[in-house]
This record gives sequence, structure tokens and C-alpha cells, in this order.
Amino acid sequence: MSNQLHYDVVVVGAGNGGLSAAAYLAQNHKKVLLLEKHNLPGGCATSFRRGRFEFEATLHEMCSVGEGETAGAVRRLLDSYGLQVKWVAMNEAFCSISLDKKDPFNVYMPVGVKAFADAMEKAVPGCRKSVETFLEFGRMFTDGVEWLDSYHNEPGGLAKMKMLFQWKDLMKLVPIDTDTMLRKIGMPDKAREIIESYWDYIATPSDSMSFAVYAFMTYSYIYRKPYICHDRSHEISLAFDAAIRKMGGDIWYCSPVKSFDVRDNVCHGVTLNDGTYISADYVIANIHPGTVFGKMMDPKEVPVRDRKSMNARHIGQPCLTVYFALDVTAKELGLDGRYDTFIRTTGNNRIQFENSKSLETHKENCITILNEVIPDCSPKGTCLLQFTKFYDCDIMKGVTPENYFKFKDKITMDTIKQFEKDMKVNIRDHIEEVVIATPTTWARYVGSPNGNTYGYIPQNWDGMFARVQSGHKLDHTIKRLRLCGGHGTQMDGYSQSYLSGREQARYALLDMAKGE
Ligand SMILES: Cc1cc2nc3c(=O)[nH]c(=O)nc-3n(C[C@H](O)[C@H](O)[C@H](O)COP(=O)(O)OP(=O)(O)OC[C@H]3O[C@@H](n4cnc5c(N)ncnc54)[C@H](O)[C@@H]3O)c2cc1C
Repeated sequence: MSNQLHYDVVVVGAGNGGLSAAAYLAQNHKKVLLLEKHNLPGGCATSFRRGRFEFEATLHEMCSVGEGETAGAVRRLLDSYGLQVKWVAMNEAFCSISLDKKDPFNVYMPVGVKAFADAMEKAVPGCRKSVETFLEFGRMFTDGVEWLDSYHNEPGGLAKMKMLFQWKDLMKLVPIDTDTMLRKIGMPDKAREIIESYWDYIATPSDSMSFAVYAFMTYSYIYRKPYICHDRSHEISLAFDAAIRKMGGDIWYCSPVKSFDVRDNVCHGVTLNDGTYISADYVIANIHPGTVFGKMMDPKEVPVRDRKSMNARHIGQPCLTVYFALDVTAKELGLDGRYDTFIRTTGNNRIQFENSKSLETHKENCITILNEVIPDCSPKGTCLLQFTKFYDCDIMKGVTPENYFKFKDKITMDTIKQFEKDMKVNIRDHIEEVVIATPTTWARYVGSPNGNTYGYIPQNWDGMFARVQSGHKLDHTIKRLRLCGGHGTQMDGYSQSYLSGREQARYALLDMAKGE
């Protein structure tokens, strides 16, 4: 087989994780091939056009970016790849509305530690001390996570001792849930509900979400600011494409991989849908484990540990997104001044989560108005509005090809009615374009089970800190094959997927150096 295609490493999937893995490998002088089923990179990190508008598909905000002295791990990583991106920082942390009749709130929360504490105190007089304590925990966790990252999450020897002493509070607080801890530090209920507004970014309600993870993420947004890029997330994906090629990597689009060639617990390469076989010393999959192990290899080769972990884990919530282009500005609608707003029926996120278990009860919404951060993102006199909802149920159950469009129409009408009622505005008379992405859209586009793009819901035994500790050795079950992406050790999200790609590529290099 002298003309057989062979690469040092094949990366399957050009989502955020795959792009980062391929960049890291190319940077480290490996002959790398990135294979992507679509004709463009990014997976969720993409945009699409309808009429005279270009819509952002997913990105509301990225954490751990920052710049200058606030630069975080993700900024440093993306800069190290040489990505050319027009980053845009925001001054808004989040906006949150609770329509609860008993104790409603409607707040704009700014970035900046002091400004955030001031705004909290204004919204809930008397909460300042507890908010400052929360932010101080966030700072401590951020330092701890940075410190762990400087050891690639594997401090050994004396450093391990330091972890036990210097970071003992961090370790102690990993298993404590966010609700419990915020009550312990004396935060009033209303302040707690406001601070917990970001909960669905972690995909689990605050009474079952690690305090350490939540405080770390929230502090990162408040201290480093949330970031997006000027030309939609597709700009980041294209910048990766350019950087990978510049560093000598190959990228093949329109190249869906059919199967992973795993024999006797070793991965030898991949086969494309068109039958092309590509052998490799190592393979990295940027595809959900449920798809890799469930559909893309000989079932006899699926390791017991992976079967067990897939069964034990709870797949993240499927997503539904409705995108509108309106022929008026946000200002004309009275919606200006706010970029990302959570509008909820109640401030209690356990109830919000329970509401997400059916189409009928789920009335919570996250609304993003891109023009508020990028004024020229749509033609003059127009604006882009995006509604995002995560469900804790299979909303596509019973939907057939015949009634799919009716189903989408109904969801759109319900979304419009709900929003118009909540915000007392008229949007239906101003719709120029509307697009709906159901869980089926996401399932088809990125190939994830049930259209979930949030990996696995974190649990006490399976949160970020537990996962990073097992990501190098314990979860490496098939030789010469590793998995990266939003389902990985760092949890879901853009930043986390980029870090996951680097992490798994680095482990691959270590394995290869040892001849494993
Ligand atoms: C509506 C929405 C809003 C979001 N908002 C945010 C946000 O504001 N901030 C944030 O941080 N995160 C956000 N996320 C989450 C974030 O987008 C994801 O966690 C992240 O992009 C997942 O990246 P990934 O590496 O897992 O790759 P994926 O995006 O899952 O991409 C996988 C890639 O693999 C390719 N592929 C699949 N199968 C094959 C095959 N057989 N052969 C070849 N290629 C294949 C796919 O085409 C795709 O390109 C949002 C997600 C959604 C859906």
C-alpha cells in the first residue's frame, strides 16, 4: 500500500475543539489533517445568511478572554496560534428579568468588580457584603484554575502539596452546590436569584451546580469582560483555518468520516463516507462520544469504561433557537441598551429548570440583540434578535417530517406572543426574516445526539474538576484515539472547547513521544 494516505495525526471535525487540536498539532510540527463534513469550519461557531442579513448561529459571549493585564487562558491560547480576530469586549455582564408577581426584578448588570457590586447593592439593598464575598471566592477560584492550568491540571510532587495547602478552599468547595454556598455567605434570596442568572450556561440548576465552577465562570465574565468578535463567530473559525494552513496543516472540507478503524484497542485511521482510507499514528475526534462509540466503530471495540460512562452521564439540554431580522431598530422598539437578557417567569432557577421539561411549560427565554454590541451588524434601520431556549426533554418526540414545519411555525408564534406580552412590544409587524433551528437542526449540523451542544450535564462526580483529573490517563481507553470538544473535560462552551482541543492534542503528543 505504498500510495496509502498517511498522516501523523488526523483530527475529525472542525468544530472549536477540532480546530484548536489541529492548530496545536501543526504548531508542534506534526503532519496533521483536519477532516470536516461541511464545506466550512466551526461547527456551532458559524453564521448564515438570509436575504440581506448575516446571523450569528450561536455565540453570545466567550469567557476567559480578556486582554492586556486581564488576558485569560483562552486569549493566550488563541494568540499563541496567531489568530487574526477583531475581538469586541462588552461592558454588560448580563441583564435579567424575573416576571414573578411576588418579587419581580429587572436589572442591567455591568462588568467590573466594583461596578457589579454597586449594581447588586442598588437592586437589593443590604446584599453588598455577600456579593463581595462571592466575588472574592470567584477571584480565588480563578487564580486556582490558572495555577492548575500552568501545570496542565496535573501538579505533581511538591506542587501537589501546594495544591493541598494553598488551594485547599478551592478543593473543598468543588462539591458544594452554588445555592447552599450563597446561602451560607448570607446572600439574600433576591440577590442570589440575580447572581444565578447565568445558570443555564452550566446546564444544571444552581442547587446541583458546583459553586467553584459557577463562581469561576461568573467572575471571569465580570473581571475579564465577555467577548465576541466583530464578524460573527465564523470569523474565529476562518482565522483558525488560515492559521492551521500557515503552520503546515491540511484541511479537507466536504469530507465526512464514516468510521474509526479500531482493532484490538488501537486506532489505526479513519474511513471517509466515499470509502477513502486514511491511516494515522494518532486520531483525535471532535465528535460527541455517543456518536463515536455508538455509530462509528466496531461495537466489539467499545471499551467497558466508555459504555459505563455514557450510561452514567446525562446528555446536555437540546437547544432551540429562533432568529429574527426586523425592519426597525432596537431603539425604535424600546429594546435598546441591552445585549443579552434572560427573561424568566420566576427568579428560582430550579423551577425554571423544571419548566424546561416540556414545550408547554417552558416560557423562559434568553434574548440577544447583536446590534447593541456591534451596531453595524445589520443594515441601517434594522436589527437582529435571537431567542435561545434549552430544554430538559426531547421536544422532537412525535414530530414527523410531515408536521415538522407546522411544529416550527407554532414554536415561532408562541415565542413571539410570549415576548410581546412580556416586553409589551410589537415585533410581528416588523419581521423581515425568521429562521428556526430545532434540536434536529443541531443534530444534523454537528452530529450530536438529540441535538445537544452542551455535552454532558455536570454532576458532583463528573464536573469540571473531576473531569480534568481523569482526562489524561483514565479516560484514554483506546490507544491512539482521543476525543475533544464541548463534551470534554473543560465542559461546554467556546472557550472550553478550544481548551479541550489543546489539552487532548497535548496528551496525544505525550503519548506519541512515549510510543503509545
Ligand atoms: C444556540 C447556541 C448558543 C450558544 N452560545 C454559546 C455562547 O454564547 N458561549 C459559549 O461559550 N458557548 C455557546 N454555545 C455552546 C458552544 O457553541 C459549543 O459548546 C461549542 O461550540 C462546541 O464545540 P465542539 O468542539 O464540541 O464542536 P461542534 O460545534 O460540536 O462541532 C463538531 C464538528 O464536527 C463535525 N463533524 C461531525 N461529525 C463528523 C463526521 N462524521 N465527519 C467529519 N466531521 C464531522 C461537525 O460538522 C462540526 O463541524 C452555544 C451553543 C448553541 C447551540
